[in-house]
Amino acid sequence: MTAPPVIEARDVYKTFSIKQGLFKPKKPLHAVNGVSFGLEKGSVLGLVGESGCGKTTMARMILGLETMTNGEILIDGEPLSGLDRIALARRVQPIFQDPYSSLNPRKSIGSIISLPLRVHKVGDPNGWKKRVEKMMELVGLPPRLYHNYPSQLSGGQRQRVAIGRALIMKPEILICDEPTSALDVSVQAQILNELLDLQKELDLTYILITHNLAVVEHMATRVAVMYLGRVVEEAETATLFKNPRHPYTKALLGSILTPEPELDVPDTHLGATFPNPVEPPSGCTFHPRCAEVMAKCSTETPRPCMVGDVKVECHLFDREMQEAS
Ligand code: SF4
Repeated sequence: MTAPPVIEARDVYKTFSIKQGLFKPKKPLHAVNGVSFGLEKGSVLGLVGESGCGKTTMARMILGLETMTNGEILIDGEPLSGLDRIALARRVQPIFQDPYSSLNPRKSIGSIISLPLRVHKVGDPNGWKKRVEKMMELVGLPPRLYHNYPSQLSGGQRQRVAIGRALIMKPEILICDEPTSALDVSVQAQILNELLDLQKELDLTYILITHNLAVVEHMATRVAVMYLGRVVEEAETATLFKNPRHPYTKALLGSILTPEPELDVPDTHLGATFPNPVEPPSGCTFHPRCAEVMAKCSTETPRPCMVGDVKVECHLFDREMQEAS
């Protein structure tokens, strides 16, 4: 990485206390368990993994919706913890999965898109309407829809409203959480391509959370594969798809996506089911499902190592790690 990262996660942890039953004590759930990555401006990081792997919790921490248990997230070199709500909203905005539930049905499109400006009192109120109309044009919405309501729009148009609302603050980073999975297949590609066009035009940085690997391959410049709160492999997209190293990445790439995307569970054909995150397996937490498991995998936790430009956590690469050091 040459340029300083626009966003950097340093050994980030998030632990929840989970109640297991009425008379049982609470147990810790390590939703994010020591995640580190850095992203250059203008890049797209695909964050992939099964439901429960920690990718959404990671995104919620970057958005300031969850506090970290430990670690640090830096945006433009500034600790997230030191940014107030407005400063954070000017830098990071979300686009959520479901444009049906994320838009207030009683508010007009103009009102929805201008909401961040009004909440954070940004700019001159007399200029808000013009700014919103410009934004509507940018995201492919005719400004004549300004006074319409979400129920009068198609699914694709509603997602464009959500994109416009996210961009109105001119953020540097967009967190896109399954941005098209609630849309008809016919409009999914259109919205994804528009997101890519906007990313290039505005030099945005995206964190793309999805289980749809085709979307990741199409959009992401880097991919981080998460399993039980850890990034088990991180690489350039082309490298990862051409030569996956971690057995879990191989299983994901060989998976057949579920026909019900809202379930967020690719059919990985891994045999054993996804473990209970409250009681994760010992050693390498993937070992009960791993096709290449070895004796030490159930007792020794693998450490991250570099295999060329690829960061991977797996005992299969212990030798490379020793050679590299
Ligand atoms: Fe499989 Fe062992 Fe590698 Fe874990 S450390 S992914 S169990 S080979």
